Amino acid sequence: MRDNKQAWSKLGIDIATHDVILDVVGAAFGEVYLSQKDRPAKMDYFNAFVAELHGKRIHELMEGQREGRKVVGTFCVFVPEELVIAANAFQVGLCAGAEVGYEAAEQYVPRNTCALIKSAFGFNRAKVCPYIEVSDMIVGENTCDGKKKAYESYAGLVRNLYVMDLPQMKSESGKALLKTEYRRFAAELEKLTGVKITAENLSKGIRIVNAKRKALARLASLRYADPAPISGLDVLLINQISFLDDPERFTAAVNDLCDELEQRIREKKGVMPAGTPRVLISGCPMAVPNWKLPNIIEKSGVVIVGEETCTGERGTRNCVETSASDVDGMIDAIVDRYFRIDCAIFTPNPDRLQHIKEMVKNYRADGVVHYSLRCCQPYTTEAISYEKALEKESIPVLLVETDYSAEDAGQLSTRIEAFKERIAK
Ligand code: SF4
Ligand code: SF4
Repeated sequence: MRDNKQAWSKLGIDIATHDVILDVVGAAFGEVYLSQKDRPAKMDYFNAFVAELHGKRIHELMEGQREGRKVVGTFCVFVPEELVIAANAFQVGLCAGAEVGYEAAEQYVPRNTCALIKSAFGFNRAKVCPYIEVSDMIVGENTCDGKKKAYESYAGLVRNLYVMDLPQMKSESGKALLKTEYRRFAAELEKLTGVKITAENLSKGIRIVNAKRKALARLASLRYADPAPISGLDVLLINQISFLDDPERFTAAVNDLCDELEQRIREKKGVMPAGTPRVLISGCPMAVPNWKLPNIIEKSGVVIVGEETCTGERGTRNCVETSASDVDGMIDAIVDRYFRIDCAIFTPNPDRLQHIKEMVKNYRADGVVHYSLRCCQPYTTEAISYEKALEKESIPVLLVETDYSAEDAGQLSTRIEAFKERIAK
């Protein structure tokens, strides 16, 4: 019999505050997720994962640690899980999606810092995230200025913060930097785990992560259908869980769900009727339990059919090429794949706009809701020119800048309702 409280105490979790947070998240999950109509039955796996968000998976990680394995916590889709798996470690995502511990966080980062960064400090300070506490290494990355500077302070708060440098331009020297950094990371993982990264274990890592991406791509392609066989809220949840779950078990669960969705498509069974206005969400990542905007959109009778975000297609697009037979060739293939990620930290970043246009076409979206977190310079800046470029091609765009608070929920609902009128067929 698992004893969650004992495990959390061992990790130094503040049990009383944590209990309150679990209650709030549980209630929000019921309200946002379980209230949806006509959900696929195979979402049960993912519901159960949320019910055990800080339970079963944490026990698995701790059990792995008892057997000598390590846990690597990450904040960005630039950290190659292939290398982490090759080193026989677990990779878990640490981004947080709730306003917790903000007052304490503001002792380290300015008030006008994006919610993703601030909540990383808040969850750390409040001692409420077992994934942070169980991590043997936490990987920061030099992406936006907010994160770069924040990691300087974060280094003093967590054990084993490792900072990965990342290019800012898609140039040859940028690619060379990424390769140098991935090699340095591989060496650091070997030091942490005592496991040598070989062609054999790296090819296994590549195979496992490619299979996960393929399953998510399969799920994405099923959303081309009208009526949409699954809600955007559910796919967001699946993507959020992809950062925490065992990758092979997760892949099997996604493929199982896809089998059911294919059947639903054959039966023309959807989560909303055929002809419901369809939107693509584009912009910043949404970490658990940040379900605010998708919930407002779908409760207003608009279905989300795709996510151009790091908790969507930006994070999972493209597999690693598998023809290399030695470690160096495999790292090259990994670099090739990750260097194509079109994060707004790159300048210039034309691929992202192109991907949005392609996604609008493939998913038959009637419009784009561009989502930026307040104070996020990279995505808020791109939003301005993207709106003009998309509108010029008659793709309606709604620019949303928000955070994790519920204060603007009413105003957002009104704006979504107006956008719905605009895109309705
Ligand atoms: S938006 Fe950029 S910095 Fe953030 S997770 Fe994605 S790739 Fe990393
Ligand atoms: S949302 Fe924007 S500001 Fe925040 S971490 Fe991501 S890129 Fe940086």
